[in-house]
Amino acid sequence: MDFNDKVVIVTGGGQGIGRCIVQTFADKGAKVVIADIDDEAGIENEEYIKSKGGDSLFVHTDVSLEEDVGNLVDKTIKTYGKIDILINNAGVGARGTIYTRPMEEWDRVINVNLRGTYMCSKYVAPHMRDNGGGVIINIASTRAFMSEPHTEPYSASKGGIIALTHSLAISLGYDKIRVNSISPGWIEVSEWKKSREAKKPQLTEEDHLQHPAGRVGKPEDVANACLFLCSEEASFITGANLIVDGGMTVKMIYV
Ligand code: ADP
Repeated sequence: MDFNDKVVIVTGGGQGIGRCIVQTFADKGAKVVIADIDDEAGIENEEYIKSKGGDSLFVHTDVSLEEDVGNLVDKTIKTYGKIDILINNAGVGARGTIYTRPMEEWDRVINVNLRGTYMCSKYVAPHMRDNGGGVIINIASTRAFMSEPHTEPYSASKGGIIALTHSLAISLGYDKIRVNSISPGWIEVSEWKKSREAKKPQLTEEDHLQHPAGRVGKPEDVANACLFLCSEEASFITGANLIVDGGMTVKMIYV
């Protein structure tokens, strides 16, 4: 898979899964724009890529703010002249429970995860269309299909991302823009956090064996799925949702 000279925007590219996606595309020769609200993490990742001889640009971006998203797209076009790939990865979890959570918390999660995904796609799509096409990947979650107590805003935002992906794939298909989602399951991200925050969770044998694949997921599992869906080899795949969960969601659990 060749991504030489491709221009890729990764939202939430400072830490976690997004940080790994950034480095994976950079390793394949792409020019990667890191859009994150966390300046320290974003700059750290940009510098890391440059130290390895790669090409990267950090743009401070809150994906829930229209002004920031407009600025992100402007800076990318000014710097690199085009946008080939957009990975909508920025996301936040919900605090509290349905009994304690103020409505502002619902708005915050929906605004970042769902509205942010739509808004980044909306601002990027005209540039992709005018450049002959592109690929958008929206990072959803297995929480779109299976839930834990009190995850309503997060689960609803991720379910919304999958429906949004269907609609975008249809709207943008004839402009040669493919749109797919990826639903990660349990992904262990501690090694992809800013160095000062890295703390390893104690994973048990049982945690790993919950997965038919025999292990908890890694950010690389999601990043590699992104590479494939963005490649020419996936040129007939649009509107799809790829579950990357080691088989956990298809496993019957007896209680
Ligand atoms: P995950 O484990 O899913 O990778 P993380 O919390 O490690 O989640 O990473 C999410 C990334 O998204 C972080 O770098 C965070 O700073 C970024 N992020 C969170 N909110 C926003 C936002 N509103 N705009 C842009 N980036 C954001």
